[in-house]
Amino acid sequence: MREWGLTPPLWRELPEGDRELMLAESALVCPSCGNLRSYCSRPGLELYPQRDECFVTAARELALRRARSKNKQEPDTRGLHPLDGVSVWMAEADINPDDEFFDV
Ligand SMILES: [Zn+2]
Repeated sequence: MREWGLTPPLWRELPEGDRELMLAESALVCPSCGNLRSYCSRPGLELYPQRDECFVTAARELALRRARSKNKQEPDTRGLHPLDGVSVWMAEADINPDDEFFDV
């Protein structure tokens, strides 16, 4: 249900027929690649790797790599490392200039 953006209460509010149809359609989709199982499970299917570039993702991965390198500390008394629970997102402006977490 989360794949459709539904919370459990919203899911339960749907008519049973709609829920069954959504589950049946979902069962046709490969959870690994997102294609129809009838497509991706064909033996001998020839596929070629393709590439897209996302510079936002690249910048986030670079920031994370630097933060991991900078924060190679032992876990604190609770067993947590400085990056545990940290999520990183990117913005066009530095909205937290006093935050030294990413400074190298
Ligand atoms: Zn697949």
